[in-house]
Amino acid sequence: MANNDRGDKLKILFVAAEVVPFAKTGGLADVAGSLPQALALMGHDVRVVMPKYRSIKGEFVNLTDFPVAVGERRETAVLRRGAINASGGETILEVPVYFIDNYHYFDRDSLYGYYDEAERFAFFSKAVLEMLPRVDFQPDVIHCNDWQTGPISLLLKEQYQANPFYSKMVSVYTIHNLQYQGNFESSALKLLGVGDEYFQPERIEFYNLVSFTKCGLVYADVINTVSRTYAQEIQTAEYGERLDGLLRKRSRDLFGIINGIHHSEYDPGNDIYICSKFGPENLEGKRPNKQALQQEMGLPERDVPVIGLISRLVDQKGLDLIAAVMDQLLNKDIQFIVLGSGDRYYEQMFQEARRRYPEKVGVFIGFNAPMAQRIYAGCDLFLMPSRFEPCGLGQLIALRYGTIPIVRSTGGLADTIQEFDPITLAGNGFTFKEYNPKAMLEAIERAVQLCTGQPELWRGLLKKALSADYSWARSANSYVDLYHLAVEKSKNRAKSP
Ligand code: ADP
Repeated sequence: MANNDRGDKLKILFVAAEVVPFAKTGGLADVAGSLPQALALMGHDVRVVMPKYRSIKGEFVNLTDFPVAVGERRETAVLRRGAINASGGETILEVPVYFIDNYHYFDRDSLYGYYDEAERFAFFSKAVLEMLPRVDFQPDVIHCNDWQTGPISLLLKEQYQANPFYSKMVSVYTIHNLQYQGNFESSALKLLGVGDEYFQPERIEFYNLVSFTKCGLVYADVINTVSRTYAQEIQTAEYGERLDGLLRKRSRDLFGIINGIHHSEYDPGNDIYICSKFGPENLEGKRPNKQALQQEMGLPERDVPVIGLISRLVDQKGLDLIAAVMDQLLNKDIQFIVLGSGDRYYEQMFQEARRRYPEKVGVFIGFNAPMAQRIYAGCDLFLMPSRFEPCGLGQLIALRYGTIPIVRSTGGLADTIQEFDPITLAGNGFTFKEYNPKAMLEAIERAVQLCTGQPELWRGLLKKALSADYSWARSANSYVDLYHLAVEKSKNRAKSP
Protein backbone atom coordinates (compact mmCIF):
# COMPACT_ATOMS: atom_id res chain seq x y z
CA MET A 1 0.00 0.00 0.00
CA ALA A 2 1.19 3.50 -0.74
CA ASN A 3 2.12 5.66 2.16
CA ASN A 4 -0.76 8.01 2.82
CA ASP A 5 0.18 11.60 3.07
CA ARG A 6 -2.55 13.08 0.97
CA GLY A 7 -4.05 15.22 3.63
CA ASP A 8 -7.59 14.52 2.44
CA LYS A 9 -9.79 13.73 5.35
CA LEU A 10 -12.23 10.89 5.40
CA LYS A 11 -15.58 10.33 7.02
CA ILE A 12 -15.49 6.94 8.68
CA LEU A 13 -18.16 4.95 10.45
CA PHE A 14 -16.54 2.32 12.68
CA VAL A 15 -18.94 -0.51 13.55
CA ALA A 16 -18.22 -3.10 16.23
CA ALA A 17 -20.15 -5.32 18.62
CA GLU A 18 -17.86 -4.36 21.52
CA VAL A 19 -15.93 -1.18 22.22
CA VAL A 20 -13.75 -0.16 25.19
CA PRO A 21 -14.72 1.45 27.59
CA PHE A 22 -18.35 0.39 27.10
CA ALA A 23 -18.22 -3.40 26.60
CA LYS A 24 -15.41 -5.88 26.22
CA THR A 25 -14.89 -9.62 25.94
CA GLY A 26 -11.63 -9.59 23.97
CA GLY A 27 -9.16 -7.76 21.77
CA LEU A 28 -11.79 -6.48 19.31
CA ALA A 29 -13.06 -4.09 21.98
CA ASP A 30 -9.56 -2.69 22.55
CA VAL A 31 -9.13 -2.06 18.84
CA ALA A 32 -12.60 -0.52 18.45
CA GLY A 33 -11.92 1.77 21.41
CA SER A 34 -8.49 2.93 20.33
CA LEU A 35 -8.14 2.92 16.54
CA PRO A 36 -10.99 5.45 16.06
CA GLN A 37 -9.24 7.75 18.54
CA ALA A 38 -6.02 7.61 16.55
CA LEU A 39 -7.92 8.32 13.32
CA ALA A 40 -9.79 11.22 14.89
CA LEU A 41 -6.53 12.72 16.13
CA MET A 42 -5.27 12.56 12.54
CA GLY A 43 -8.17 14.81 11.58
CA HIS A 44 -10.64 12.30 10.16
CA ASP A 45 -14.33 12.50 11.02
CA VAL A 46 -14.73 9.12 12.67
CA ARG A 47 -17.77 7.92 14.55
CA VAL A 48 -18.35 4.61 16.28
CA VAL A 49 -21.55 2.59 16.51
CA MET A 50 -22.31 -0.39 18.74
CA PRO A 51 -25.28 -2.10 20.45
CA LYS A 52 -26.45 -0.69 23.76
CA TYR A 53 -26.15 -3.69 26.07
CA ARG A 54 -27.67 -3.77 29.53
CA SER A 55 -24.23 -3.57 31.13
CA ILE A 56 -23.52 -0.18 29.52
CA LYS A 57 -24.31 2.53 32.02
CA GLY A 58 -24.01 6.24 31.52
CA GLU A 59 -25.75 9.43 30.57
CA PHE A 60 -26.39 9.38 26.86
CA VAL A 61 -28.25 11.78 24.63
CA ASN A 62 -31.43 10.34 23.13
CA LEU A 63 -31.34 11.17 19.44
CA THR A 64 -34.24 9.49 17.74
CA ASP A 65 -35.97 6.19 17.11
CA PHE A 66 -36.91 4.49 13.89
CA PRO A 67 -38.39 1.22 12.63
CA VAL A 68 -36.22 -1.68 11.45
CA ALA A 69 -37.70 -4.68 9.64
CA VAL A 70 -36.25 -8.02 10.75
CA GLY A 71 -38.00 -10.83 8.91
CA GLU A 72 -41.66 -10.55 9.82
CA ARG A 73 -40.94 -8.38 12.84
CA ARG A 74 -40.96 -4.63 12.85
CA GLU A 75 -38.66 -3.61 15.65
CA THR A 76 -37.75 -0.16 16.89
CA ALA A 77 -34.18 1.04 17.16
CA VAL A 78 -33.63 3.72 19.75
CA LEU A 79 -30.57 5.76 18.95
CA ARG A 80 -28.48 7.29 21.71
CA ARG A 81 -25.24 9.16 21.58
CA GLY A 82 -22.19 9.14 23.85
CA ALA A 83 -18.51 9.76 23.21
CA ILE A 84 -14.98 8.54 23.77
CA ASN A 85 -12.45 11.20 24.70
CA ALA A 86 -9.34 11.13 22.58
CA SER A 87 -6.24 12.99 23.61
CA GLY A 88 -2.89 13.35 21.94
CA GLY A 89 -0.36 16.01 22.85
CA GLU A 90 -2.27 19.26 23.32
CA THR A 91 -5.34 18.04 21.48
CA ILE A 92 -8.38 16.68 23.24
CA LEU A 93 -11.42 15.77 21.22
CA GLU A 94 -14.53 13.64 21.36
CA VAL A 95 -15.19 10.66 19.14
CA PRO A 96 -18.97 10.30 18.89
CA VAL A 97 -20.33 6.87 19.78
CA TYR A 98 -23.82 5.90 18.63
CA PHE A 99 -25.65 3.24 20.58
CA ILE A 100 -28.34 1.16 18.92
CA ASP A 101 -30.76 0.32 21.68
CA ASN A 102 -33.55 -2.22 21.64
CA TYR A 103 -34.94 -3.72 24.81
CA HIS A 104 -35.80 -7.07 23.27
CA TYR A 105 -32.38 -7.75 21.69
CA PHE A 106 -29.81 -6.09 23.91
CA ASP A 107 -31.21 -5.72 27.41
CA ARG A 108 -29.71 -9.05 28.47
CA ASP A 109 -27.08 -10.33 30.90
CA SER A 110 -24.31 -11.07 28.38
CA LEU A 111 -23.11 -9.67 25.11
CA TYR A 112 -23.34 -12.90 23.12
CA GLY A 113 -24.41 -16.51 23.18
CA TYR A 114 -28.19 -16.38 22.65
CA TYR A 115 -30.56 -18.55 20.59
CA ASP A 116 -31.51 -15.59 18.38
CA GLU A 117 -28.00 -14.32 17.60
CA ALA A 118 -28.77 -14.10 13.86
CA GLU A 119 -31.81 -11.95 14.53
CA ARG A 120 -30.00 -9.70 17.02
CA PHE A 121 -27.16 -8.86 14.66
CA ALA A 122 -29.31 -8.72 11.53
CA PHE A 123 -31.27 -6.08 13.42
CA PHE A 124 -28.09 -4.30 14.49
CA SER A 125 -26.62 -4.32 10.97
CA LYS A 126 -29.78 -2.95 9.40
CA ALA A 127 -30.21 -0.36 12.13
CA VAL A 128 -26.66 0.91 11.48
CA LEU A 129 -27.46 1.56 7.83
CA GLU A 130 -30.88 3.00 8.63
CA MET A 131 -29.54 5.43 11.21
CA LEU A 132 -27.21 7.25 8.78
CA PRO A 133 -29.74 9.57 7.09
CA ARG A 134 -31.32 10.17 10.48
CA VAL A 135 -28.10 11.56 11.89
CA ASP A 136 -27.22 13.13 8.55
CA PHE A 137 -23.89 11.33 8.34
CA GLN A 138 -22.67 10.13 4.95
CA PRO A 139 -19.45 8.26 5.64
CA ASP A 140 -16.97 7.60 2.84
CA VAL A 141 -16.17 4.31 4.50
CA ILE A 142 -18.11 1.95 6.73
CA HIS A 143 -15.56 -0.11 8.64
CA CYS A 144 -17.13 -3.42 9.69
CA ASN A 145 -15.52 -5.71 12.24
CA ASP A 146 -16.15 -9.45 12.58
CA TRP A 147 -19.27 -11.42 11.82
CA GLN A 148 -21.76 -9.36 13.84
CA THR A 149 -21.28 -6.57 11.30
CA GLY A 150 -20.83 -8.66 8.11
CA PRO A 151 -24.41 -8.12 6.88
CA ILE A 152 -23.67 -4.39 6.58
CA SER A 153 -21.27 -5.06 3.66
CA LEU A 154 -23.85 -7.28 1.99
CA LEU A 155 -26.80 -4.94 2.44
CA LEU A 156 -24.84 -1.84 1.49
CA LYS A 157 -23.75 -3.35 -1.81
CA GLU A 158 -26.87 -5.27 -2.74
CA GLN A 159 -29.63 -2.99 -1.49
CA TYR A 160 -28.72 0.39 -0.06
CA GLN A 161 -26.29 1.59 -2.74
CA ALA A 162 -29.21 1.88 -5.13
CA ASN A 163 -30.30 4.82 -3.01
CA PRO A 164 -28.28 8.01 -3.82
CA PHE A 165 -27.69 8.69 -0.13
CA TYR A 166 -25.57 5.52 0.11
CA SER A 167 -24.30 5.22 -3.44
CA LYS A 168 -20.75 6.45 -2.80
CA MET A 169 -20.16 4.60 0.47
CA VAL A 170 -17.73 1.67 0.55
CA SER A 171 -17.19 -0.97 3.18
CA VAL A 172 -14.04 -2.42 4.69
CA TYR A 173 -14.33 -5.69 6.61
CA THR A 174 -11.76 -6.59 9.27
CA ILE A 175 -11.30 -10.15 10.46
CA HIS A 176 -10.32 -10.11 14.12
CA ASN A 177 -10.76 -13.85 14.50
CA LEU A 178 -11.85 -16.10 11.66
CA GLN A 179 -12.91 -18.86 14.02
CA TYR A 180 -16.02 -16.96 15.12
CA GLN A 181 -18.14 -16.89 12.01
CA GLY A 182 -21.82 -16.41 12.79
CA ASN A 183 -23.25 -19.37 10.87
CA PHE A 184 -27.03 -19.77 11.02
CA GLU A 185 -29.93 -21.74 9.60
CA SER A 186 -31.15 -20.69 6.16
CA SER A 187 -34.06 -18.85 7.81
CA ALA A 188 -31.50 -16.09 8.47
CA LEU A 189 -31.93 -15.06 4.82
CA LYS A 190 -35.37 -13.71 5.70
CA LEU A 191 -34.00 -11.90 8.72
CA LEU A 192 -31.51 -10.17 6.45
CA GLY A 193 -34.21 -9.42 3.91
CA VAL A 194 -32.50 -11.15 0.98
CA GLY A 195 -33.95 -13.78 -1.35
CA ASP A 196 -33.16 -17.49 -1.68
CA GLU A 197 -30.84 -16.72 -4.60
CA TYR A 198 -28.26 -15.61 -2.02
CA PHE A 199 -28.15 -19.14 -0.64
CA GLN A 200 -25.31 -20.39 -2.81
CA PRO A 201 -21.61 -20.87 -2.12
CA GLU A 202 -20.55 -17.88 -4.28
CA ARG A 203 -22.70 -15.70 -2.06
CA ILE A 204 -23.45 -16.23 1.62
CA GLU A 205 -24.14 -19.93 1.90
CA PHE A 206 -21.58 -21.85 3.90
CA TYR A 207 -22.05 -25.62 4.09
CA ASN A 208 -25.82 -25.31 4.08
CA LEU A 209 -25.86 -22.45 6.57
CA VAL A 210 -25.95 -18.69 6.17
CA SER A 211 -22.59 -17.17 7.09
CA PHE A 212 -22.51 -13.61 8.41
CA THR A 213 -18.72 -13.67 7.95
CA LYS A 214 -19.19 -14.39 4.26
CA CYS A 215 -21.53 -11.40 4.02
CA GLY A 216 -18.42 -9.37 4.83
CA LEU A 217 -15.80 -11.42 2.98
CA VAL A 218 -17.76 -11.56 -0.28
CA TYR A 219 -19.26 -8.08 -0.36
CA ALA A 220 -16.78 -5.71 1.33
CA ASP A 221 -14.69 -3.61 -1.04
CA VAL A 222 -11.51 -4.57 0.79
CA ILE A 223 -10.80 -7.04 3.56
CA ASN A 224 -8.07 -7.06 6.11
CA THR A 225 -6.97 -8.88 9.18
CA VAL A 226 -4.90 -7.84 12.12
CA SER A 227 -1.43 -9.04 11.17
CA ARG A 228 0.44 -9.85 7.99
CA THR A 229 1.25 -13.39 9.02
CA TYR A 230 -2.39 -14.18 9.87
CA ALA A 231 -3.41 -12.69 6.50
CA GLN A 232 -1.17 -15.32 4.89
CA GLU A 233 -2.11 -18.13 7.26
CA ILE A 234 -5.87 -17.81 6.69
CA GLN A 235 -5.33 -18.52 3.02
CA THR A 236 -4.23 -22.04 3.95
CA ALA A 237 -6.40 -25.00 4.88
CA GLU A 238 -4.73 -25.24 8.30
CA TYR A 239 -5.83 -21.78 9.49
CA GLY A 240 -8.53 -20.89 6.98
CA GLU A 241 -11.52 -22.28 8.93
CA ARG A 242 -12.89 -23.62 5.61
CA LEU A 243 -12.90 -20.10 4.17
CA ASP A 244 -9.37 -20.30 2.77
CA GLY A 245 -10.63 -20.85 -0.79
CA LEU A 246 -12.68 -17.67 -0.71
CA LEU A 247 -9.80 -15.77 0.90
CA ARG A 248 -7.39 -16.96 -1.77
CA LYS A 249 -9.87 -15.81 -4.37
CA ARG A 250 -9.91 -12.36 -2.77
CA SER A 251 -6.19 -12.31 -2.00
CA ARG A 252 -5.67 -9.11 -4.03
CA ASP A 253 -8.13 -7.35 -1.73
CA LEU A 254 -6.84 -8.92 1.49
CA PHE A 255 -4.36 -7.08 3.71
CA GLY A 256 -2.73 -7.48 7.11
CA ILE A 257 -2.38 -4.54 9.50
CA ILE A 258 -0.98 -5.12 12.96
CA ASN A 259 -2.97 -3.70 15.89
CA GLY A 260 -1.65 -1.04 18.17
CA ILE A 261 -2.51 -0.50 21.81
CA HIS A 262 -3.62 2.62 23.59
CA HIS A 263 -0.47 3.97 25.18
CA SER A 264 -2.18 6.22 27.69
CA GLU A 265 -4.65 3.55 28.82
CA TYR A 266 -1.83 1.07 29.29
CA ASP A 267 0.82 3.25 30.87
CA PRO A 268 3.00 1.93 33.70
CA GLY A 269 4.07 5.50 34.41
CA ASN A 270 0.49 6.56 35.03
CA ASP A 271 -1.73 3.61 35.87
CA ILE A 272 -4.24 4.07 38.67
CA TYR A 273 -4.57 0.32 39.23
CA ILE A 274 -0.93 -0.38 40.12
CA CYS A 275 0.79 0.43 43.40
CA SER A 276 4.10 1.67 42.01
CA LYS A 277 4.67 3.55 38.77
CA PHE A 278 7.63 2.76 36.56
CA GLY A 279 9.14 3.24 33.11
CA PRO A 280 12.38 2.92 31.14
CA GLU A 281 14.09 5.45 33.43
CA ASN A 282 12.77 3.83 36.57
CA LEU A 283 13.04 0.05 36.33
CA GLU A 284 13.11 -0.28 40.11
CA GLY A 285 9.55 0.97 40.26
CA LYS A 286 8.37 -2.35 38.80
CA ARG A 287 9.45 -4.44 41.80
CA PRO A 288 6.82 -3.34 44.36
CA ASN A 289 4.15 -4.36 41.86
CA LYS A 290 5.49 -7.89 41.92
CA GLN A 291 5.29 -8.06 45.69
CA ALA A 292 1.81 -6.56 45.72
CA LEU A 293 0.70 -9.08 43.11
CA GLN A 294 2.13 -11.99 45.10
CA GLN A 295 0.19 -10.76 48.11
CA GLU A 296 -3.01 -10.33 46.13
CA MET A 297 -2.69 -13.85 44.75
CA GLY A 298 -1.83 -15.39 48.12
CA LEU A 299 1.66 -16.40 47.05
CA PRO A 300 4.86 -16.16 49.12
CA GLU A 301 6.80 -12.96 48.40
CA ARG A 302 9.82 -14.65 46.88
CA ASP A 303 12.23 -13.29 44.31
CA VAL A 304 11.55 -15.93 41.67
CA PRO A 305 10.39 -15.46 38.06
CA VAL A 306 6.65 -14.85 37.98
CA ILE A 307 4.96 -15.94 34.78
CA GLY A 308 1.53 -14.51 33.93
CA LEU A 309 -1.24 -15.67 31.67
CA ILE A 310 -4.28 -13.48 30.93
CA SER A 311 -6.59 -15.00 28.41
CA ARG A 312 -9.92 -16.26 27.32
CA LEU A 313 -9.61 -19.89 28.37
CA VAL A 314 -10.32 -21.57 25.03
CA ASP A 315 -8.53 -24.08 22.78
CA GLN A 316 -7.16 -21.31 20.54
CA LYS A 317 -4.87 -20.13 23.30
CA GLY A 318 -2.70 -23.27 23.39
CA LEU A 319 -3.68 -24.24 26.91
CA ASP A 320 -3.38 -27.95 26.12
CA LEU A 321 0.37 -27.38 25.78
CA ILE A 322 0.42 -26.09 29.35
CA ALA A 323 -1.70 -29.02 30.51
CA ALA A 324 0.80 -31.45 29.00
CA VAL A 325 3.75 -30.07 31.01
CA MET A 326 2.02 -28.58 34.04
CA ASP A 327 4.06 -30.60 36.56
CA GLN A 328 7.36 -30.00 34.80
CA LEU A 329 6.59 -26.30 34.69
CA LEU A 330 5.58 -26.11 38.33
CA ASN A 331 8.54 -28.14 39.52
CA LYS A 332 10.69 -25.18 38.53
CA ASP A 333 11.42 -22.42 41.00
CA ILE A 334 8.83 -20.07 39.54
CA GLN A 335 5.36 -18.73 40.24
CA PHE A 336 2.51 -18.87 37.75
CA ILE A 337 -0.46 -16.49 37.77
CA VAL A 338 -3.57 -17.05 35.67
CA LEU A 339 -6.45 -14.66 35.00
CA GLY A 340 -9.11 -15.85 32.63
CA SER A 341 -12.48 -17.35 31.99
CA GLY A 342 -13.97 -19.56 29.34
CA ASP A 343 -14.17 -23.33 28.99
CA ARG A 344 -14.99 -25.12 32.25
CA TYR A 345 -12.32 -27.67 31.49
CA TYR A 346 -9.50 -25.13 31.49
CA GLU A 347 -10.91 -23.21 34.44
CA GLN A 348 -10.83 -26.40 36.47
CA MET A 349 -7.41 -27.35 35.16
CA PHE A 350 -5.89 -24.15 36.55
CA GLN A 351 -7.85 -24.34 39.78
CA GLU A 352 -6.58 -27.87 40.23
CA ALA A 353 -3.00 -26.68 39.63
CA ARG A 354 -3.56 -24.06 42.32
CA ARG A 355 -4.81 -26.74 44.71
CA ARG A 356 -1.77 -28.89 44.08
CA TYR A 357 0.83 -26.12 44.08
CA PRO A 358 -0.59 -23.47 46.43
CA GLU A 359 2.84 -21.88 46.89
CA LYS A 360 3.37 -21.48 43.18
CA VAL A 361 0.09 -20.90 41.41
CA GLY A 362 -2.33 -17.98 41.68
CA VAL A 363 -5.63 -18.20 39.82
CA PHE A 364 -8.53 -15.81 39.33
CA ILE A 365 -11.37 -17.09 37.18
CA GLY A 366 -13.36 -14.20 35.75
CA PHE A 367 -12.92 -11.03 33.74
CA ASN A 368 -11.22 -8.26 35.65
CA ALA A 369 -9.53 -5.40 33.81
CA PRO A 370 -7.86 -3.71 36.82
CA MET A 371 -6.45 -7.04 37.97
CA ALA A 372 -5.18 -7.67 34.44
CA GLN A 373 -3.22 -4.44 34.65
CA ARG A 374 -1.72 -5.45 38.02
CA ILE A 375 -0.68 -8.78 36.53
CA TYR A 376 0.89 -7.17 33.46
CA ALA A 377 2.78 -4.84 35.80
CA GLY A 378 3.79 -7.37 38.45
CA CYS A 379 5.00 -10.34 36.40
CA ASP A 380 8.41 -10.93 34.86
CA LEU A 381 7.21 -13.08 31.99
CA PHE A 382 3.98 -13.44 30.03
CA LEU A 383 2.98 -16.73 28.42
CA MET A 384 0.99 -16.87 25.16
CA PRO A 385 1.40 -20.29 23.51
CA SER A 386 -1.49 -19.79 21.06
CA ARG A 387 -2.44 -22.41 18.51
CA PHE A 388 -3.33 -19.47 16.26
CA GLU A 389 -3.39 -15.75 17.03
CA PRO A 390 -4.75 -13.15 14.59
CA CYS A 391 -2.81 -10.36 16.31
CA GLY A 392 -2.80 -10.77 20.05
CA LEU A 393 -2.78 -7.78 22.33
CA GLY A 394 -1.64 -9.49 25.51
CA GLN A 395 1.98 -9.68 24.34
CA LEU A 396 1.98 -5.96 23.44
CA ILE A 397 0.44 -4.86 26.73
CA ALA A 398 2.91 -7.12 28.56
CA LEU A 399 5.87 -5.49 26.78
CA ARG A 400 4.46 -2.08 27.58
CA TYR A 401 4.64 -3.09 31.27
CA GLY A 402 8.14 -4.52 30.96
CA THR A 403 6.91 -8.09 31.15
CA ILE A 404 8.68 -10.25 28.63
CA PRO A 405 6.50 -12.44 26.39
CA ILE A 406 7.02 -16.13 25.73
CA VAL A 407 4.98 -16.89 22.63
CA ARG A 408 4.34 -19.39 19.93
CA SER A 409 5.40 -17.83 16.62
CA THR A 410 2.10 -17.66 14.79
CA GLY A 411 -0.02 -14.83 13.37
CA GLY A 412 0.51 -11.51 15.09
CA LEU A 413 2.73 -13.11 17.71
CA ALA A 414 5.22 -13.94 14.96
CA ASP A 415 5.02 -10.36 13.67
CA THR A 416 5.57 -8.67 17.03
CA ILE A 417 7.83 -10.94 19.09
CA GLN A 418 11.34 -12.01 18.07
CA GLU A 419 13.60 -14.33 20.05
CA PHE A 420 16.06 -12.44 22.23
CA ASP A 421 19.66 -13.01 21.17
CA PRO A 422 22.07 -12.63 24.11
CA ILE A 423 24.97 -11.92 21.72
CA THR A 424 23.50 -9.29 19.40
CA LEU A 425 20.83 -8.21 21.92
CA ALA A 426 18.27 -8.28 19.10
CA GLY A 427 14.75 -9.50 19.87
CA ASN A 428 12.20 -8.77 22.56
CA GLY A 429 10.97 -12.10 23.90
CA PHE A 430 11.12 -15.88 23.72
CA THR A 431 9.52 -17.86 20.94
CA PHE A 432 8.86 -21.38 19.72
CA LYS A 433 7.49 -22.51 16.41
CA GLU A 434 6.40 -26.13 16.65
CA TYR A 435 3.08 -26.61 18.36
CA ASN A 436 4.32 -29.00 21.00
CA PRO A 437 4.75 -28.82 24.78
CA LYS A 438 8.46 -29.58 24.70
CA ALA A 439 9.19 -26.62 22.44
CA MET A 440 7.13 -24.39 24.74
CA LEU A 441 8.90 -25.66 27.84
CA GLU A 442 12.30 -25.03 26.28
CA ALA A 443 11.32 -21.44 25.49
CA ILE A 444 10.16 -21.00 29.10
CA GLU A 445 13.47 -22.43 30.31
CA ARG A 446 15.47 -19.97 28.18
CA ALA A 447 13.38 -17.13 29.58
CA VAL A 448 13.72 -18.26 33.19
CA GLN A 449 17.47 -18.72 32.82
CA LEU A 450 17.99 -15.25 31.44
CA CYS A 451 15.74 -13.75 34.11
CA THR A 452 17.55 -15.44 37.00
CA GLY A 453 21.09 -15.89 35.65
CA GLN A 454 21.88 -12.81 33.58
CA PRO A 455 20.69 -9.74 35.49
CA GLU A 456 22.47 -7.24 33.21
CA LEU A 457 21.02 -8.70 30.03
CA TRP A 458 17.64 -8.93 31.72
CA ARG A 459 17.67 -5.25 32.67
CA GLY A 460 18.57 -4.36 29.09
CA LEU A 461 15.70 -6.43 27.75
CA LEU A 462 13.32 -4.84 30.24
CA LYS A 463 14.43 -1.36 29.32
CA LYS A 464 14.04 -2.11 25.65
CA ALA A 465 10.49 -3.40 26.22
CA LEU A 466 9.58 -0.34 28.25
CA SER A 467 11.01 2.08 25.67
CA ALA A 468 9.40 0.70 22.52
CA ASP A 469 6.34 2.07 20.74
CA TYR A 470 3.30 -0.19 20.50
CA SER A 471 0.82 2.59 19.78
CA TRP A 472 -1.41 3.07 16.76
CA ALA A 473 1.06 5.60 15.31
CA ARG A 474 2.08 3.33 12.42
CA SER A 475 -0.96 1.21 11.86
CA ALA A 476 -3.54 4.00 11.86
CA ASN A 477 -1.83 5.30 8.69
CA SER A 478 -2.12 1.89 7.12
CA TYR A 479 -5.87 1.92 7.80
CA VAL A 480 -6.17 5.31 6.12
CA ASP A 481 -4.38 3.83 3.09
CA LEU A 482 -6.76 0.91 3.17
CA TYR A 483 -9.79 3.19 3.26
CA HIS A 484 -8.50 5.16 0.28
CA LEU A 485 -7.84 1.94 -1.56
CA ALA A 486 -11.43 0.81 -0.94
CA VAL A 487 -12.73 4.12 -2.29
CA GLU A 488 -10.49 3.83 -5.38
CA LYS A 489 -11.46 0.23 -6.04
CA SER A 490 -15.10 1.02 -5.86
CA LYS A 491 -14.71 3.98 -8.25
CA ASN A 492 -12.86 1.76 -10.72
CA ARG A 493 -15.50 -0.92 -10.48
CA ALA A 494 -18.18 1.66 -11.13
CA LYS A 495 -16.30 2.78 -14.27
CA SER A 496 -15.75 -0.70 -15.70
CA PRO A 497 -18.66 -2.00 -17.81
P1 ADP B 1 -8.54 -12.24 22.13
O1 ADP B 1 -9.07 -11.06 21.37
O2 ADP B 1 -8.44 -13.49 21.33
O3 ADP B 1 -9.26 -12.48 23.42
P2 ADP B 1 -6.16 -10.59 22.52
O4 ADP B 1 -4.82 -10.91 23.09
O5 ADP B 1 -6.19 -9.94 21.19
O6 ADP B 1 -7.02 -11.93 22.54
O7 ADP B 1 -6.93 -9.60 23.50
C1 ADP B 1 -7.31 -9.98 24.77
C2 ADP B 1 -7.60 -8.74 25.57
O8 ADP B 1 -8.50 -9.08 26.62
C3 ADP B 1 -6.38 -8.17 26.24
O9 ADP B 1 -6.58 -6.78 26.45
C4 ADP B 1 -6.36 -8.91 27.57
O10 ADP B 1 -5.66 -8.23 28.56
C5 ADP B 1 -7.84 -8.94 27.89
N1 ADP B 1 -8.29 -10.05 28.72
C6 ADP B 1 -8.41 -11.36 28.37
N2 ADP B 1 -8.91 -12.08 29.40
C7 ADP B 1 -9.10 -11.21 30.42
C8 ADP B 1 -9.62 -11.33 31.76
N3 ADP B 1 -10.02 -12.51 32.23
N4 ADP B 1 -9.69 -10.22 32.52
C9 ADP B 1 -9.28 -9.03 32.03
N5 ADP B 1 -8.80 -8.84 30.78
C10 ADP B 1 -8.72 -9.91 29.99
